[in-house]
Amino acid sequence: VVNWPFNAIQRKRLNWVQLAGHKGNFKAADEGSILKKFSEIEKQCFERLRGDALQAYAPQYHGVVEKDGESFLHMTDLLVNFDLPNVMDCKMGIRTYLEEELVRARDRPKLRKDLYEKMLEVDHRGPTEQEHAQKAVTKPRYMQWRETMSSTHTLGFRIEGIKKSDGTCRTDFKKTHNKRDVTQVFRDYVERDVHVVKSYLCRLAEIQQVLQSSEFFKRHEVIGSSLLFIHDHTGRAEVWLIDFGKTTALPEGQMLHHNVPWQEGNREDGYLWGLKNLIQTLESIRDG
Ligand code: ATP
Ligand code: MG
Ligand code: MG
Repeated sequence: VVNWPFNAIQRKRLNWVQLAGHKGNFKAADEGSILKKFSEIEKQCFERLRGDALQAYAPQYHGVVEKDGESFLHMTDLLVNFDLPNVMDCKMGIRTYLEEELVRARDRPKLRKDLYEKMLEVDHRGPTEQEHAQKAVTKPRYMQWRETMSSTHTLGFRIEGIKKSDGTCRTDFKKTHNKRDVTQVFRDYVERDVHVVKSYLCRLAEIQQVLQSSEFFKRHEVIGSSLLFIHDHTGRAEVWLIDFGKTTALPEGQMLHHNVPWQEGNREDGYLWGLKNLIQTLESIRDG
């Protein structure tokens, strides 16, 4: 049943959009906050972010909440202060799986029919002859293949999804691979609004700066985490770090550079390299 006119809270709820992950991983909470399905790794990140320079660039964390027999992480809804926001999720880094996932899958290769089918959906020529025969692929094989299709390898980030204020939503960027195509998607997202581009660049420069000084960032392998871009017609434009479900602490005393090539064993994630490329992409739009 749709009630008209919507009150302010209903309007906010309708504004909310989830650009990645399983539907059902999120629930609405009190005004201005959301619940994300519990993950121990992500909880630990929110706890370790407390007091870190980076904390102000991630959603505010309000603790673990039980609802209908399930656990959730309670956090700020980043969209709440926007009116009909445009939202873009960019997954950062040169890979999207953990080294340990690769090792596990090698030791105990689990064949996945669902991932084989996902692969077919994107590209019929994706699977090898053997994979066609068994109608299944392993998870790391799927993830590595996906990364060669997207800009994860070539640029150190990939666009996961975009929702525009007119209600249109796109998540079909699985094959958006080269710099020219990525730039075009960004250009379409900001709709030639130079003010918005400049605000985004300002915020990204700030994030780049803060990442250099963050103890949390030095000591974590940041995999599958995103930068969430949000702007609206008022000119408000923000970028936030979200999704720490695969952000894992390094052994005591170990640190990452985040801008050197990954070799299995060094755990490098290429986050800063991707961020540099992301900034260059927006700069080329600002200057072009
Ligand atoms: P995946 O690992 O597949 O990326 P996930 O289940 O870990 O998914 P997230 O990536 O954290 O989920 O979030 C999915 C989407 O939900 C984001 O792309 C974004 O659109 C929205 N979202 C997540 N956190 C917030 C937040 N704090 N405020 C507003 N929107 C959010
Ligand atoms: Mg995500
Ligand atoms: Mg995640």
